[in-house]
Amino acid sequence: MSIYFEPRIADVMRNQYCDNCILSVITTLDNFDKKIYFHNDINNLSKLPPLNIKVFNNGVVLKNHVDPKLLSVISMDLKPLLFIVGAFFGMIVFLIVNYYIKRKLSLHSLILKGITRKEFIPYYQPIIDVYKNEMYGCEVLVRWWFNGKELILPDDFIPYAENSGLIINITDVLLEKTLMQLSSVNWQDSSAIISINMIPGQLEDKQHMREVVDLIIKSSISPKQIAFEITERMSFSDLDKAATVIDYLKAQGINVKLDDAGTGYGSFSYIQHFNLQSLKIDKMFVDTIGTHDHKLFVLDSIIAFGKKAGMEMIAEGVETKQQSDYLLQNGVYLQQGFYFSEPLKFEQFCIFVEQNKRKH
Ligand code: C2E
Ligand code: CA
Ligand code: CA
Repeated sequence: MSIYFEPRIADVMRNQYCDNCILSVITTLDNFDKKIYFHNDINNLSKLPPLNIKVFNNGVVLKNHVDPKLLSVISMDLKPLLFIVGAFFGMIVFLIVNYYIKRKLSLHSLILKGITRKEFIPYYQPIIDVYKNEMYGCEVLVRWWFNGKELILPDDFIPYAENSGLIINITDVLLEKTLMQLSSVNWQDSSAIISINMIPGQLEDKQHMREVVDLIIKSSISPKQIAFEITERMSFSDLDKAATVIDYLKAQGINVKLDDAGTGYGSFSYIQHFNLQSLKIDKMFVDTIGTHDHKLFVLDSIIAFGKKAGMEMIAEGVETKQQSDYLLQNGVYLQQGFYFSEPLKFEQFCIFVEQNKRKH
């Protein structure tokens, strides 16, 4: 290191020369631009622009000139280290990506296996007409009995099944089983509705819907007893195509309901575009009853809209008497939730239906 004190330079310093050195020059603001002469500055460090300059409050200036060779030596020294750090992080990224790909692949193959082994089972949650105090129908909610032993809830596989398209096969298995189970207890002798969840992608696929309708027609259950709930969580990619399919379904007697109304993509545009007559009010809004949550206004607006449009409304996630009463007072008499019953296995659902019949 050479230090140059302006205006006098000690000869001994001036004649110092080193390879790979840093030249720090301490000077004053008055002498800032003064040309510095170095007797033995073979590397011409003093002529290089300083790498950094620090001006202190008292007018003293510190400039550092660095030999480019030194910079390259430093970067050479750092290269192996940078390489190791880079390789380390690269490896971590690789392991994470690999983990997720494997997880997805294994989830994919496990779902496929589950479909062939018919591990996807319908559970039934009653929908109650609180006004008439009778069962209006039920919603079919899938449960995965993995290996016949472990119960997996929809939130753990439905998002993947929906995005990968495997939901189509799951719905087929579910529908087949539902029609078989409910016709075995003469569901067709009642006028109760069976509501099945569908995603927008399914309603844009006419061929798939034709197959679904065929399956229903072949059973003893009338298409008039079937409703499809389309979730708002996913968007339609082709509204016109979906409108044609929905018209086809309506012509077959199948009602299409807007599920999770108010939570996702264009509720009201879907209602308009598809001329829907039914909507399901999400639990998110029902939860606000009896609270000061501002979403209570949203609930009231959805109800006001539904009434004005003459729509059938079903409130889901009803857990308390207070919620049920509020909804009934506001004209929403079709209700579903733990206050009445959780989703039930077929055998338990049959018991619920029997008990419900005996009440009347
Ligand atoms: P969703 O269609 O909004 O169904 C209602 C969900 O709320 C169900 O959850 C039901 O068990 C739950 N629930 C009903 N009443 C209450 C209540 O009072 N309190 C509470 N805490 N929860 C209540 P589940 O069965 O876990 O299903 C979650 C979601 O998975 C469903 O939401 C639906 O979007 C999707 N899903 C379920 N089955 C199917 C299916 O077969 N196909 C498709 N595409 N999606 C399905
Ligand atoms: Ca639903
Ligand atoms: Ca919902």
